[in-house]
Amino acid sequence: MQQEKVDFIIIGGGALGTFHAFHALENGLSVRLFEKNNRPQGSSVQNFGQVVPSGMNLKWQNFGRRSLQIYKDLQSKVDITLRPNGSVYIASNEEEMTLIEELHQINRQNDYTSILMTKEECLQKFEGLRADYCRGALFFPEEATVESREMIHRVLSFLTSEKGLIYQPSTLIREITQANGECSVIDHNGKVYTASKVLICNGYELKVLYPELFAQSDLEVVKLQMLQTISQPSQKVLGNILTGLTVRRYESFQECPSYSAIKEKEDAEALWKKWGVHILFKQCPDGSFIIGDSHEYADAINADDLGFDLYSEINEYMLEEAKKIFNLETWAIQKEWFGLYSQCKTQDIFKHTLGNDIHILTGIGGKGMTGGAGFAESHVQELFSL
Ligand SMILES: Cc1cc2nc3c(=O)[nH]c(=O)nc-3n(C[C@H](O)[C@H](O)[C@H](O)COP(=O)(O)OP(=O)(O)OC[C@H]3O[C@@H](n4cnc5c(N)ncnc54)[C@H](O)[C@@H]3O)c2cc1C
Repeated sequence: MQQEKVDFIIIGGGALGTFHAFHALENGLSVRLFEKNNRPQGSSVQNFGQVVPSGMNLKWQNFGRRSLQIYKDLQSKVDITLRPNGSVYIASNEEEMTLIEELHQINRQNDYTSILMTKEECLQKFEGLRADYCRGALFFPEEATVESREMIHRVLSFLTSEKGLIYQPSTLIREITQANGECSVIDHNGKVYTASKVLICNGYELKVLYPELFAQSDLEVVKLQMLQTISQPSQKVLGNILTGLTVRRYESFQECPSYSAIKEKEDAEALWKKWGVHILFKQCPDGSFIIGDSHEYADAINADDLGFDLYSEINEYMLEEAKKIFNLETWAIQKEWFGLYSQCKTQDIFKHTLGNDIHILTGIGGKGMTGGAGFAESHVQELFSL
């Protein structure tokens, strides 16, 4: 049986799908959103929950800054777990100090607030930070954390109860057709739904809809290992904690004048390079710390090769490195998992249109919780010529 036609059908309840729904509804459009799982559990739920425009190039820093405003506005209406405690990049040596000082200058030009902190200021602000690791830091006071295991579910439930979203979880979309200015979307039961436009935000699920298109694209899937300690008895560390290896990895630092020369001196055989490791911390409201992460890559067509194993060699290495940075009250681990995301090798996001009205958007990489909400706003405007 055919269901009532809407303006916009969205497939995928991750950050991209959900925030496209949010902006479309804000613009008065009728929206139906399908999610194959009973609750989304893709990248948007598996991730760190660091909202860090400071780590991105200027284009995505701007989307990230807009996302922060959107999150703050939403948080004033419903608790989406946002905690605006800032982000800090802790330098461990002279080279990393040079890079944070250069990024500080770049951000002044971009009118984005960042504050250089001395070692003493850092040791005072971040309880447990090791004096033999920290040389100084760059702090971004406007940034925030979210709890990814909760946030998307809360936004979807708010959009459903308050904004008129028609949300259909546990519904896998298998096929889409278009004719006479109308798109038809067919679910796993053969039910047909119609809309003026369809947007597919499928994340790293590259085998169900248009697998041949993804197989021929330059999309790759990335696997990241993550750890979570048990609650610390009393230690409190606020905000996103990013460290020296992150300074050497994140895109924003590539704009620093000294970046290339510093990268050239790195040991190509180092374990952190082999596993794509940099060390990040985020303390959750329950007192536990999330610690990560590593990066393994496979082309879309070979994504299965990433396998289902968690490598203890990687987790042990990450913990060893983390212990050089912070003294935590307890390092007992309660959870270990890997997350996946898709990204393009040559572009910042994968955008493709079939016919006039079927749009695909995925491959946002490691920046979706930061830039996704802001990007979705401008993409909805573009799709509907608003
Ligand atoms: C471990 C890890 C840590 C990260 N940390 C951060 C971070 O700190 N900050 C940051 O900014 N970014 C981070 N990221 C990146 C961020 O999580 C992603 O960029 C973002 O979540 C991608 O969102 P998405 O909506 O494209 O994909 P997803 O969240 O994967 O959503 C896609 C959804 O589509 C559904 N779907 C797919 N196909 C169908 C179909 N045919 N029918 C119905 N439903 C379908 C899936 O079930 C899924 O729920 C991290 C990622 C990982 C894995």
